[in-house]
Amino acid sequence: MAMDPHAQVPTQLISHFSSGWIELWDSDQTHFWDRGKPSPALIDWLESQPEVLPLHPNRKLTALVPGCGKGYDVVMLALHGIDVYGLELSRKGVEISEAYAKAELARPSSYNFAIENETGPLTSVIGNAKFLEGDFFKTNWEKRVAIDGFQGFDLIYDYTFLCALLPEMRMDWGRRMSELLSPDGVLVCLEFPLHKDLKLPGPPWGVKGVYWNILSQGGDGIIDEETASEEGQLQGKFKRMTYFKPARMYENGKGTDMFSVWKLRR
Ligand code: SAH
Repeated sequence: MAMDPHAQVPTQLISHFSSGWIELWDSDQTHFWDRGKPSPALIDWLESQPEVLPLHPNRKLTALVPGCGKGYDVVMLALHGIDVYGLELSRKGVEISEAYAKAELARPSSYNFAIENETGPLTSVIGNAKFLEGDFFKTNWEKRVAIDGFQGFDLIYDYTFLCALLPEMRMDWGRRMSELLSPDGVLVCLEFPLHKDLKLPGPPWGVKGVYWNILSQGGDGIIDEETASEEGQLQGKFKRMTYFKPARMYENGKGTDMFSVWKLRR
């Protein structure tokens, strides 16, 4: 794997790849990924009040949603009392998200809450939803994160972000996650698409076994179906705390999405 001649992706290719996303936004082609509502699996997990979430009784939790699209998950997390940052490459994406957040925070839709709580939020405290235009792989946007004594986010949510990246960017994705998470924070991943052959081109690229390879095994995430395995040495920076098939998921997961929660190894 390390000998893969494509493992070192030229900077030019990455910047061309990034401008591809911005062009898709600017030409109104968001239908390729836009699901029109927040992740049901994330809502259900959050409202189950998972013990793995860090406890900070004196302040709100903080979260980051990289590649946040139109901001549905950012707003939903804010409605659950969390101060959330949505990060987007696209300026237009940020503008659309800001308008969405303004309307939705004032009059939240029932789809932001678990079915049994559809009448409203679990908490009366609402967090801030802020959107930043920036590149996840660069650090320049971090100075715009206005959190007192910031030591990394308590929660980072990855949905259709890893699968949107060139496979050659996966190792850097893992490194950035480890840099951006607070020492007791959780990286929450809704793993998609798991039904797609790893050899087929993306985006979205198939990610079956990929999160495990990067985060737990410390690999580069460029794996193939035949050799991928959960066995082997765990040299990655993360430990998987929770792993399950969510009861509710978006239709396009075809019933195969998996929910994984990771913490930094101590
Ligand atoms: N998670 C969103 C969007 C998924 S599409 C949703 O579920 O709707 C992937 C998004 O990631 C696109 O909006 C794209 O503009 C953004 N993106 C891709 N590379 C990025 C990067 N390096 N930094 C920040 N955003 C990025």
